[in-house]
Amino acid sequence: MNIVLLNANQDCSSDIWSIEDQRQIKHLNQHLQLKAGDTLKVGVRDGQRYLTEVQSITAQQIMLRPIQAENVPNKVPVHLILALPRPKVLRRMIMDAVTLGVERISLIHSYRVDKSYWQSPFLQQLDDYVTLGLEQAGDTIVPEIQLYKRFKPFVEDVLPTLITEQRPAYVAHPYAEQSMPHAIAHGCNLIVGPEGGFIPYEIDLLKKNGCQAMSLGNRILRTETAVSNILGRLFV
Ligand code: SAM
Repeated sequence: MNIVLLNANQDCSSDIWSIEDQRQIKHLNQHLQLKAGDTLKVGVRDGQRYLTEVQSITAQQIMLRPIQAENVPNKVPVHLILALPRPKVLRRMIMDAVTLGVERISLIHSYRVDKSYWQSPFLQQLDDYVTLGLEQAGDTIVPEIQLYKRFKPFVEDVLPTLITEQRPAYVAHPYAEQSMPHAIAHGCNLIVGPEGGFIPYEIDLLKKNGCQAMSLGNRILRTETAVSNILGRLFV
């Protein structure tokens, strides 16, 4: 946790703020051994980030005094479109994508996504994963997240509206002939497949609707490794 994220309803005009979330207090007490007088980075969800000074600490509450506003890290201009991963992997992927700074995330169905994943209680916890990702990065701005439970309508009706010359769509596919670009100077829509990969019909439909299939080489990466690798490569 590199900042503590406070709710958007935090009254920033008051002189003293409080942290009352038990997860955050436990983390700060256990891992940072915080004491009165220490400084602490705090962000307001979807708002400003601040350097604060700790005024007092109890097991239930930490009181803070804001000292100065700080910059929030820039996002990377990427709309990440992910075939819905297994529930256990979903948490890591959302956290990491948010930490890496993607602007927007869409979770889509595909042939090799088990339909039961859409019923997973983990999907109700997306907001918690986003909070963890933001706290890790020191960011406060919540990316938009959308769910599309049908592949074909998403690819035929939604995807073409997202693609422009300045925002192409790349689908990461190990068997593509072209290589994933490096150090681009524009944003993009980035589509990453399920653990079993996209089927040929899906790759064809994506291409027909404006996507460019791009390979990262002949090593097959885990989905989460592929996402970090691609973002690191596109925006060096
Ligand atoms: N057996 C699957 C296949 O053959 O497509 C492997 C899928 S891989 C575990 C999951 C996703 O990560 C792929 O659908 C793709 O989007 C991305 N990926 C993994 N390795 C890749 C590579 N070498 N090039 C491009 N994309 C890759």
